[in-house]
Amino acid sequence: MESNSFQVVNEIFTTKEAIDEAKRCLNCKVPMCRKGCPIDNDIPEFVHQLSMGNMGKAMSIINDKSNLPAICGRVCPHEKQCQGNCILNKKGKGIQIGKLECFIADFDTDMNLIRERIQKNIRGRVAVIGSGPAGLTVAGDLARQGFDVTIFEGQNVAGGVLMYGIPEYRLPKTVVRKEIAKIEALGVNFVLNCLVGENNITVDSLFDEGYDAIFIGTGTSIPMNMNGVKGADLRGVNQSTYLLHCVNSYNEGVISRDMVPINPGERVAVIGGGNVAMDAARTAIRLGADVTVIYRSTQDKMPAIPSEYNDAVAEGVKFMWESSTIDFVGNEKNRLKAIHLNTPDGEKNVEFSRVFLAIGSRPANRIVSTTAGIDVDERGYVIVNERPMGMTTRSGVFAGGDVVHHPKTVVLAMKAAKEVASGIAQYVDAIKLLEDCKKLEEKG
Ligand code: FAD
Repeated sequence: MESNSFQVVNEIFTTKEAIDEAKRCLNCKVPMCRKGCPIDNDIPEFVHQLSMGNMGKAMSIINDKSNLPAICGRVCPHEKQCQGNCILNKKGKGIQIGKLECFIADFDTDMNLIRERIQKNIRGRVAVIGSGPAGLTVAGDLARQGFDVTIFEGQNVAGGVLMYGIPEYRLPKTVVRKEIAKIEALGVNFVLNCLVGENNITVDSLFDEGYDAIFIGTGTSIPMNMNGVKGADLRGVNQSTYLLHCVNSYNEGVISRDMVPINPGERVAVIGGGNVAMDAARTAIRLGADVTVIYRSTQDKMPAIPSEYNDAVAEGVKFMWESSTIDFVGNEKNRLKAIHLNTPDGEKNVEFSRVFLAIGSRPANRIVSTTAGIDVDERGYVIVNERPMGMTTRSGVFAGGDVVHHPKTVVLAMKAAKEVASGIAQYVDAIKLLEDCKKLEEKG
């Protein structure tokens, strides 16, 4: 692996570039950019404040809606959301809103501009399971509203997919750590290496410890496999998320290069057409492999956002369209040597020494199988109510993010989590009120 192969691909603006870009904003009467933002960020106002050099004001506007702006600024699908809706696209180039958000958030972190007043955490105790975008958002929002919040995370670092999934070259881990430090500074406690549903730590034991409400934001950690396909158990057939996890661990200095499952020059296939497939393919290219993405449909049907696909092509990733796997072909040592494919040119064996699957994921059942009363659908996604927003079929237990709405995006996990945070606040206030009424009754 070359030393700079995971260098960040999208450099951030300098101060002058950011202010010049902000000045291009037309301040539209009906700002379409804001309509395109799932969390209703007041984009026109923060861009306006930035155009006048008011960094602190710009950041406090962003802070009203987002706990993770340095992350959203880097990984949100801006071309489909805020930026894609900018009216200036019609005249050439829309405002680069993602890069502006990123600039403001990084500036704030570097200069320590916003120092929020920490609320007294006396309104109730909330346990959050999982520290991905959903868990971090619930925790940040509730801490700001005076709740005592503890996050329980199964991994040894907080951040979920932000830390071990999305590659370093798109989202530097220092950025994730700094965003998490800001949430910690609000008074949120983190308990790492704590897999709820194992070692006697369950939803019930958390209630026994005195938590008033529990939020499940555990994502979809079980990758879909191709176990029905012959040869899927050959050595050399792996999950894309495994590759990404290994490479992030290698970049963090946690594992050595020989533990990363790709050698330079290998012929590698990635099966799938979403953003995980693009990340795996672009990561494999950076490890020196010859990479082909195999997708069952046509380019226009690929779920990956166009910029990810374009970047993959520019970096040398090849694509085979309308191609599906019939089986995996192994050698005498049970190692993959080819994939038997159905292609538009008919059936053929194409030689590959490794294949990484990126065909979706689903929730683990560790929590629901150790807790009575939490209903899930037939694929394991947690069922929630709208009143109180986000409460599961078990009273006081809430859920949100990918574990509820299927794998989507960081900002959509945050949007759901923000709504659930308000549901949790209402629920805890209501049970506290009832408890107070009961005490009064008992006194009287
Ligand atoms: P997660 O981020 O999955 O977090 C769940 C957390 O819960 C994890 O930290 C996990 O360790 C923890 N956990 C699980 N079970 C337990 C348990 N029993 N006890 C304690 N902790 C537990 N979205 C974008 O917007 N832009 C992108 O560029 C993008 N790229 C992606 C690239 C990859 C490789 C992947 C996999 C996803 C990508 N996504 C992207 C999607 C996005 O990351 C997810 O939609 C988002 O992270 C979901 O957030 P979440 O908090 O619901 O779950």
